[in-house]
Amino acid sequence: MEKRYYQPEIETMPVAELQKLQSEKLVKQVRHVYDNVPYYRQKMDEKGVKPEDIKGIEDLHKLPTITKGDLRETYPYGMLAVPLEDCVRIQSTSGTTGKRVIAYYTQKDVELWEDCCARALVAVGATKKDVCQVAYGYGLFTGGPGLNGGSHKVGCLTLPMSSGNTERQIQFIQDLQATILCCTPSYAAYIGETMKEMGIKPEDNTLKAGIFGAEPWTEEMRRDIEKSLGIKAYDIYGLTETSGPGVSFECEAQTGMHICEDHFLAEIIDPDTEEVLPLGSVGELVFTSLDKEAFPLLRYRTRDICRLTREPCPCGRTHVKMCKPMGRSDDMLIIRGVNVFPSQIETVLINEGYSPNYQIIVDRVSNNDTIDVNVELSPEQFHDTIKEIAKLEKNLEAALRTMLGIGPKVHLVAPKTIARSEGKAKRVIDNRKLH
Ligand code: ADP
Ligand code: ZN
Repeated sequence: MEKRYYQPEIETMPVAELQKLQSEKLVKQVRHVYDNVPYYRQKMDEKGVKPEDIKGIEDLHKLPTITKGDLRETYPYGMLAVPLEDCVRIQSTSGTTGKRVIAYYTQKDVELWEDCCARALVAVGATKKDVCQVAYGYGLFTGGPGLNGGSHKVGCLTLPMSSGNTERQIQFIQDLQATILCCTPSYAAYIGETMKEMGIKPEDNTLKAGIFGAEPWTEEMRRDIEKSLGIKAYDIYGLTETSGPGVSFECEAQTGMHICEDHFLAEIIDPDTEEVLPLGSVGELVFTSLDKEAFPLLRYRTRDICRLTREPCPCGRTHVKMCKPMGRSDDMLIIRGVNVFPSQIETVLINEGYSPNYQIIVDRVSNNDTIDVNVELSPEQFHDTIKEIAKLEKNLEAALRTMLGIGPKVHLVAPKTIARSEGKAKRVIDNRKLH
């Protein structure tokens, strides 16, 4: 297969050269932050680290980390490292886990972010001949603007649909012959479901690839989407704090996402002790922005749990790969002392032949944690008798118990009773926090 890159020299740079480049950029970036961000300077001073102590990436671990808490404390402009008049854009997180955090960009910051998205698009085969339908939300959320910018850079014909209005999305896919779809995986699943209802077969649309991210999704969900849309589905990862989508992306090998390492230096740490873990360990992903001017976070703790590998990739890219995040450290549910990730539940549901439309409800009754999983039946399954449904529920409960080690209560509900997501799906309702 022909190899395609957006920035070939950078994307295939030998690792030793890449690390030398990272070291040079890090030294400059630490100086930039120390001189311009009093909040971080104080953190460095408290830790007894001076910019001159950082001579290369091997010294990275000496720097203090930053958390979402620091960003909330310094909201709105406490992390600004350039005059505000040099900024041209504000974006914000989705606020999945609390108050939103904002990020600010200079023109150069926007460019490097869009370059990363362009790399992701070219990696799935995009060229100027493609029609790229961007169905991520536009606005403060980074999904829409990021992929929109990347699509322009590649020269695709860009359809800035934003999310929602699903029938119109499908009409445009058909009428304008879209070839690449970008949205959250849960929305892609919904578009696939709606297409089926409209009587459009997977082979009757022109789509060939999808770039789906911004939320966790399983391999099972990937297969489901690939089947329902008749495409190849690729993962993309990012967070507002580092820029947005495109921090890492899948290539044709689909065995992890290459991190744009020339811009984002990645580490894996032990979330409890902050100890840096060796390559291949599972831990919390930490990023240092090497080139960002306005909002240059050093050692930002993402709370995403994952693993890095540097095995050679058939695509020829040399940049380190991260696996699908296994969930956020704050996504993990602790139920009666057992760690449960929503993704484990999703895997079981899809393997057992259910739709990815589900909701997990956690509560505490008389000091005992309870977990209920509502799962939608397909219209075909819904014709079963009450007795049969009770049997299906028992079977699913048993499959979940085997996977999780604890027994959730399953409720099979009527088709279309669980709200569909046009952006990031809300899978978990934890009522324990309300008590
Ligand atoms: P928020 O923290 O409010 O959701 P963002 O909108 O910036 O803020 O989302 C970034 C987060 O979304 C990441 O830290 C990660 O947890 C999640 N995320 C993004 N892309 C993916 C992906 N491909 N797979 C799993 N999780 C992802
Ligand atoms: Zn690759």
